[in-house]
Amino acid sequence: MSQAAQLKAEPEGFQGKKNIYVCEKCKGHIVTVDIDRGVTPFTIDCKATVFCDGWMKSSMYRVFDQSMKASFEWYRPTAIEVLSPGAQHHVDQGGLLIRKATS
Ligand SMILES: [Zn+2]
Repeated sequence: MSQAAQLKAEPEGFQGKKNIYVCEKCKGHIVTVDIDRGVTPFTIDCKATVFCDGWMKSSMYRVFDQSMKASFEWYRPTAIEVLSPGAQHHVDQGGLLIRKATS
């Protein structure tokens, strides 16, 4: 994940806030929620369509309806979670990781 593409969170963060990522290639979208405080990337690989190799762009938390159900969540991994060196670096810089929503 490119550090230059990271969206810097405000001091209070975007915890609890919904965001939408839209794929430039398949035009699919996902709704995400920040369940922890931290930094989320501006672009992620497509998660809307299986086998799509497009990039999804953040809507910068400009989500009109915050009551939408999120299908993915940004979380801070626990210390026992084994991460790749790239992911660990991202987390060390205050970054959150994405996973399928658990609630
Ligand atoms: Zn796509």
